Amino acid sequence: MTEPLLYEISRPGRCSCRLPEPDVPRAELPAGYLREELPLPEVSEVDLVRHYVRLSQLNHAVDTGFYPLGSCTMKYNPKVNEAMCRLPGFTQVHPLQPVDSVQGALALMYELQGFLAEISGFPAISLQPAAGAHGELTGVLIMRKALYERGERQRDVILVPDSAHGTNPASTSMSGLKVVEIPSDARGNVDLEALQAHLNDRVVGLMLTNPNTLGLFDEHLLEVTRRVHEAGGLVYGDGANLNALLGICKPADLGFDVLHFNLHKTFSTPHGGGGPGSGPVGVTAELADFLPGPIVAEHYDEEGPFLDLYMPPRSIGPVKSFYGNFGVLVRAYTYIRMLGVEGLRRVAENAVLNANYLLSRIRDVYPLPYDRTCMHEFVVEGRIEGAPDVRALDISKRLMDYGFHPPTNYFPLIVHEALMIEPTETESKETLDAFAEALLKIAEEAREDPELLHTAPHTTPLSRLDEVRASHPKTMRLCYAPGC
Ligand SMILES: *Cc1c(COP(=O)(O)O)cnc(C)c1O
Repeated sequence: MTEPLLYEISRPGRCSCRLPEPDVPRAELPAGYLREELPLPEVSEVDLVRHYVRLSQLNHAVDTGFYPLGSCTMKYNPKVNEAMCRLPGFTQVHPLQPVDSVQGALALMYELQGFLAEISGFPAISLQPAAGAHGELTGVLIMRKALYERGERQRDVILVPDSAHGTNPASTSMSGLKVVEIPSDARGNVDLEALQAHLNDRVVGLMLTNPNTLGLFDEHLLEVTRRVHEAGGLVYGDGANLNALLGICKPADLGFDVLHFNLHKTFSTPHGGGGPGSGPVGVTAELADFLPGPIVAEHYDEEGPFLDLYMPPRSIGPVKSFYGNFGVLVRAYTYIRMLGVEGLRRVAENAVLNANYLLSRIRDVYPLPYDRTCMHEFVVEGRIEGAPDVRALDISKRLMDYGFHPPTNYFPLIVHEALMIEPTETESKETLDAFAEALLKIAEEAREDPELLHTAPHTTPLSRLDEVRASHPKTMRLCYAPGC
């Protein structure tokens, strides 16, 4: 970094804050709590503001550029969502307040439950889980409990396709069940024969992402869900890719029994830094009694409708304190209300159109392992003819020099040198064209000057990181202190 660190511009006596006179009596702190020689930087307010604003601009962000990180749905987050979730009526309520004093907040949750039910086709929704992975754990626990209560306690296996997101096997393991991997067929679908071979009375169910992480809609989906049911199992839907289906089809109609929503993806909440998110779970009527709570319900008394909370009778129990991440619920509610029925459908249509357009622009240069029309994202191989030692990672790093966030690399695992690209519906044709041009230019560079790619990025504040050291807990901490 060429910019000075705060410690370097520190001058004795400079100060960026003025504390108000205390309105309580001064008290002496016990000796030993105060350190005379604490080396805090002394800087003016303007220096401090510039320091932090500069730091805030070192990372790429959806608000500063294209962010085609596949599977993450990094769509633009409308700013009206932020205004809504900061309204004092939403920020200044307390989860322990009596329900009659928070009817507005409950109404928002109740309506959101209804919207998600309408969108997914599932009659019962719990808003409590805090993220997609948390929804998965919740859903698997619900499936297990439902089968145990049917007396089928020997069931202890969840089938997970090899294209699945890593959270699927992880949450299954956390639930205490065993994971068995199901291979994909040559067209990127669940391999029906392999599935059949694993269906028996040990199976709790199948966890399926549709469209899957290759961006493909399973061509045998109804047959897959039918066979799992026939074997006495249940089907879990990983709803992270709901962006492709909004307003077009409902997961409940496709044979799923449980589904999590990633509100922060499909319904827009900033999630680049890892949270907070929200992963509500929807279930069929048969599973409704097992949902975690509290869930908001409408009652009627003499004065009219009244919103209250209930815990489903055979609930797996709460999975998070109180109501889940309420701020994310407000954003999702606002997003849905702003777009309406027509707008939500256009989200899915444009997400799919944008992905197919981008794919059509680069597919002659970047190999496409599963040659099909994609949904909202697609996976190509980061391998360029005539440049044998250029890898997906090199291409991604070079994209940063062109001002783009790299796509997802090396996932899904079943594609060699995977580059997983999700443009989302919010990007213009001009942006998609600029990104395609960059990828095509990079392919030329790869042939002419592969070293340029191996050493990229060249324009970012830090150049190529040592991938091992960068993610090692001992070396990944940022350097703020002098001399580091
Ligand atoms: C993002 C994602 C998840 C996990 O969701 P989180 O909200 O990040 O916990 C699971 N499956 C798929 C396909 C995803 O893209």
